[in-house]
Amino acid sequence: MTALPAPGPEADRDLPLDAHLHTNLSPDSDVPIDAYCAAAVERGIPEIAITDHVDFDPRDQAYSFATFAERERQVRDAAARWADRGLRVRFGVEVTYESRFDAEIREHLARHPYDYAIGSVHVAASSPYLASRVASWVAGRSFDEVVTPYFGEVEAAIRSELFDTLGHLDYVKKYLVDHVPPSAFAARPDVYEPLLRALVESGTALEVNASGLRQPPGETYPAAPIVARFRALGGRRVTAGSDAHRVHSFAYGLGHVYATIAASGLDAPRLVPRHPGR
Ligand SMILES: [Zn+2]
Ligand SMILES: [Zn+2]
Repeated sequence: MTALPAPGPEADRDLPLDAHLHTNLSPDSDVPIDAYCAAAVERGIPEIAITDHVDFDPRDQAYSFATFAERERQVRDAAARWADRGLRVRFGVEVTYESRFDAEIREHLARHPYDYAIGSVHVAASSPYLASRVASWVAGRSFDEVVTPYFGEVEAAIRSELFDTLGHLDYVKKYLVDHVPPSAFAARPDVYEPLLRALVESGTALEVNASGLRQPPGETYPAAPIVARFRALGGRRVTAGSDAHRVHSFAYGLGHVYATIAASGLDAPRLVPRHPGR
């Protein structure tokens, strides 16, 4: 396989889409939407999706941070302002999936007209992967026992058929990096098989998320061999996102992500209209 390009402004430009971005209507971002729009025009990226957080656990910061109406107005207004610069701005969402909130999430998505919905498993207030408890929790557990809480929820998120895209499939690598290195995940591709089969069977797109390239794992979520395996199993739909929370992270690593996708034999990422009934 040819070498994948290193992240940077030379490689991360003239690409069709950045499908995962957080503005200052997410509690962990400070970016005004127009800063992303200007960066997209400057980089030659003609389509972006704004995917601010929606959480359903009242203990999570995004639970009551911004209303649907505020988020929709911000994105639709920006889309109108930037349309004549050749930029398409899509109104998306990144929902934190927890199976115990499945019914609430289902109702939210049924009632709110997003262009695009990412479902992601995060490390919630009750998670064993929180920095304050991960070391003692990992000790004495097998690899399978360690990854099951995360991967089990990811499989439930996919099987819910609520989402267009499953976000950062193995983001748990970030929280485990000091205890279970990315090489341990690479050595166990079998644990990904149920997730990849669920994606293919449900028609849910796989996101190749660049944020791991700027975080300690130093590789995409998921890594290139998992993207290739998705293709081999019959997967076709992929999206690509920088998951920027700061303006300097806009499109960061996207050149690497698009090269990973092309090397696996998949077509370039694109947003498709929401699945009927989702
Ligand atoms: Zn996320
Ligand atoms: Zn995100």
